Amino acid sequence: MYPSVFSEEHEIFRRTLREFVEKEIKPHIPEWEAQGAIPRELFEKLGSLGYLGIRFSPRYGGSGLDFWYTTVLIEELVRSSSVGVAVSILAHAEFASKAIDNAGTEELKEEFLRPAATGEKIGALGITEPDAGSDVAAIRTRATRDGGDFVVNGAKTFITNGTIADFMTTAVRTGGHGRGGISLLVIPTDAPGFIKGKRLHKLGVHASDTAELTLEDCRVPARYLIGQENDGFRLIMEGFVGERLVLALICCTQMRLMWEEARRYGHERKAFGRHLLGFQVWQHRLADALAAIEASEALTYRAVHLYVQGKDCIAESALAKLFASEAVRNVAHDCAQIFGGNGYMEEYTIARLRRDSLGFTVGAGTSEILRGIIAKERGLLV
Ligand SMILES: Cc1cc2nc3c(=O)[nH]c(=O)nc-3n(C[C@H](O)[C@H](O)[C@H](O)COP(=O)(O)OP(=O)(O)OC[C@H]3O[C@@H](n4cnc5c(N)ncnc54)[C@H](O)[C@@H]3O)c2cc1C
Repeated sequence: MYPSVFSEEHEIFRRTLREFVEKEIKPHIPEWEAQGAIPRELFEKLGSLGYLGIRFSPRYGGSGLDFWYTTVLIEELVRSSSVGVAVSILAHAEFASKAIDNAGTEELKEEFLRPAATGEKIGALGITEPDAGSDVAAIRTRATRDGGDFVVNGAKTFITNGTIADFMTTAVRTGGHGRGGISLLVIPTDAPGFIKGKRLHKLGVHASDTAELTLEDCRVPARYLIGQENDGFRLIMEGFVGERLVLALICCTQMRLMWEEARRYGHERKAFGRHLLGFQVWQHRLADALAAIEASEALTYRAVHLYVQGKDCIAESALAKLFASEAVRNVAHDCAQIFGGNGYMEEYTIARLRRDSLGFTVGAGTSEILRGIIAKERGLLV
């Protein structure tokens, strides 16, 4: 880790947050993992302490801080050992709300961003549909003008916070085919015709709720549009840059955590009369894992550095997320392997961490899509 990227203020912020996580999050993890979601009160507590609106404009209840503070938030939440908790909170504070902060009207910010900062309203980001995931330009959820409203029809799937959200920042088709016909619309989840479907059963990140949602003649005021009509694709792509950094940071912290667990176990557990770390094979495997972790962190922190400075980092964020999300799967395997049978048991944190490491090659651009972005950004297309 580069110690120099964090200031004394960041470290004070980290210490306070770490205490909060120890007291208010860690003891509840088994319960939240079992119920498949975190409670509304956690959003409210985090909001009252200013952790949800870190980057939001101070005019609407945010703190106007930089992404290094968000980095600290992600690292400390993942250190709770429940990646699902981090995913749910970041889906709200970054994925669903940041577009409103960046491009929403004053009215939208008053109505949705201010309560998002306090945790009074929970947000979700609704892009993926049953027939359109990687190919965002193919979404079919249609928003048709009717006087001062849009009437929305369609379906979304795999939506984080889907069953607990109060609003969904939604990709809708307002124009013709392709990327030029997409808008971003905030839809309150209590609007008539907004149907919350079943909570999906996932392989991991169990504390974050993921759902299917249906919109049937769902009427939404046209003033809930974010930015210009038919400019949604650009806003979504801009948002993906930050989302990839969030996911890369989650992967980096998961790896650190698993590595520390593996090192501790390797010092404690004995086989054939020796500590496991007395075998050179384990020293080397954990050395290799550390190389992957530090390379992931270096790529990710470099991308965050560019992002904080407002520089173009489309390729860098894609590189960071691609590398870290692929690395975490291998690191998870090696770190769990040293635990032997215990690594497969729910009582051991390593089992959950390993399970939680599997899905990050998918969200905010699959590894295949990210390779395509890197190819385009770095002149590999012929
Ligand atoms: C835990 C979880 C949480 C999620 N949360 C959200 C959320 O909050 N909001 C939201 O909108 N979505 C969310 N998603 C959805 C996620 O963004 C999509 O799953 C992802 O974009 C991929 O879309 P897809 O599943 O439809 O796969 P598809 O697009 O159908 O892709 C299937 C496979 O084909 C590959 N592929 C597709 N196109 C190409 C190509 N051109 N070249 C080569 N290979 C290709 C993909 O890489 C993938 O391996 C979540 C997903 C998960 C697993």
